[in-house]
Amino acid sequence: MKLTEALMEMEQRLEDMLKEIRDLKMHVYALEQQNELLLARVYNNETEDRGYNNLQKLYKEGFHICPAQFGGIRSEGKDCLFCLGFLKKQFSVDTTREGSK
Ligand SMILES: [Zn+2]
Repeated sequence: MKLTEALMEMEQRLEDMLKEIRDLKMHVYALEQQNELLLARVYNNETEDRGYNNLQKLYKEGFHICPAQFGGIRSEGKDCLFCLGFLKKQFSVDTTREGSK
């Protein structure tokens, strides 16, 4: 009986840890996407479009991509003005990109 309780407790702790790891994983993923986009902007190469698409996808999946709450979950999937502004800014940068053919 006691052992069963101990095991159940351990199971619960592992589940909590797993949940934490998943949250962290998504946060790291979001940061990696942002990093990729920023690197692309620094070097102004073709991966910029991919970085933008990844961020857009991330936003659609319900995560913040705005600097203030980056990687956080958008509550109830509500639109975030900062995220939308960030996306728009990235997009306008993309369309006005000049130079390298
Ligand atoms: Zn946001």
